[in-house]
Amino acid sequence: MINIPKGTKDALPQDSHAFLALEKKAREVARVFNLNEIRTPTFEHTELFLRGVGDTTDIVGKEMYTFLDKGERSITLKPEGTAGVARAYIENGMDRNASLPVKMYYITPVFRYERPQSGRLREHHQFGVELYGSPEPQTDAEVVQIAKTLMDTVGIEETKLFINSIGCPECRKLYNEALRNFLADNIESMCKDCKERYVKNPLRILDCKEEHCKEINKGAPKITEYLCEECKNHFEGFKKALDEVGIEYTVNPNIVRGLDYYTRSVFEFVTEADKLTVCGGGRYDNLVSMLGGKPTPAVGFGMGLERLMMIAERAGADLGKPNAPKVYIANLSDEQSTLIRKVVYELRRQGVSAECDLMQRSLKAQMKYAGRIGAEYVVVIGEEEAKTGECELKEMATGDVKKIKIEKLIDELK
Ligand SMILES: [Zn+2]
Ligand SMILES: [Zn+2]
Repeated sequence: MINIPKGTKDALPQDSHAFLALEKKAREVARVFNLNEIRTPTFEHTELFLRGVGDTTDIVGKEMYTFLDKGERSITLKPEGTAGVARAYIENGMDRNASLPVKMYYITPVFRYERPQSGRLREHHQFGVELYGSPEPQTDAEVVQIAKTLMDTVGIEETKLFINSIGCPECRKLYNEALRNFLADNIESMCKDCKERYVKNPLRILDCKEEHCKEINKGAPKITEYLCEECKNHFEGFKKALDEVGIEYTVNPNIVRGLDYYTRSVFEFVTEADKLTVCGGGRYDNLVSMLGGKPTPAVGFGMGLERLMMIAERAGADLGKPNAPKVYIANLSDEQSTLIRKVVYELRRQGVSAECDLMQRSLKAQMKYAGRIGAEYVVVIGEEEAKTGECELKEMATGDVKKIKIEKLIDELK
């Protein structure tokens, strides 16, 4: 007996409709915001994530699925969606495109070797949005609108939007200094990760989940008080753009996001009851140039589909049903099976979902099966029906029966 790997999950045929429903809604929201899908490989050269995501992050430091392929290349299963999109953007010369901004979305599996106790899957799925080319804060607000529209479409009301600005490398220099000063007396007592972050990227200390570290972080200087003039104006512009369209938010200086590539705007949608982050995103103006492309401002988000589903189910959202046939055609004896298979094949070719017996069941068992798989109508074709070319179409929900020519079945059911 071989079991499923730890941290992964099957979507079974009777349940997978919920995924499809969410993906359909995500694609529909992408359509109205005029985004096109980008599909990048499931694995990339490890170097991409080291340079793009940053080696002080937990993702790169601890959670990546990295291996040598048979050609001795270091390969990594993508731990997030943005770096691959940025790589594709540069590699395909989209940074020379005159039709900026380039607006893209993706739906992809991502892989992170997370601690099992955090309850996160090691393979989960993300819907992500990427807008390249515009530095305007209205673009940040448009990205937030996309996430908000999707949650509204799904029927989720319980999330709150938190925003922050983490500035640019210029203002962050000043802030890092202030933060190091603030933490200096206590850093020895903080966790191992925070000690490392203290040296490499102190901002990320604010993201630490350890209780002791969180306690020390209370009263830390706020990044928003250290923003340079340009970053300050940009943040004001972002807030104004959200105000203009009536999207409510709370400024939270502790939102820093776990990835090194963010600059300026960052945001999260968090559930009120259990403080789960459903969607996280922000601006990453330096990512494309860090990866060797022409400097290109960019902004986007990633949304975990499993989390979104959990919250959607909690909200009682309509996530569809498994497929069920429009009609089940039962046979009374073997003689009619050729006729039935012909009719069923023709129905299917005409777009009518139809089903017939593949198990040599008795009529009684066929009727039971038709009920169990949720057939909307049932037709029985026996010797009499085959001879007269006329059958009875029974609507399962009402029990209503209608006499009809077999050749008219398709028109009737269409
Ligand atoms: Zn700045
Ligand atoms: Zn810590």
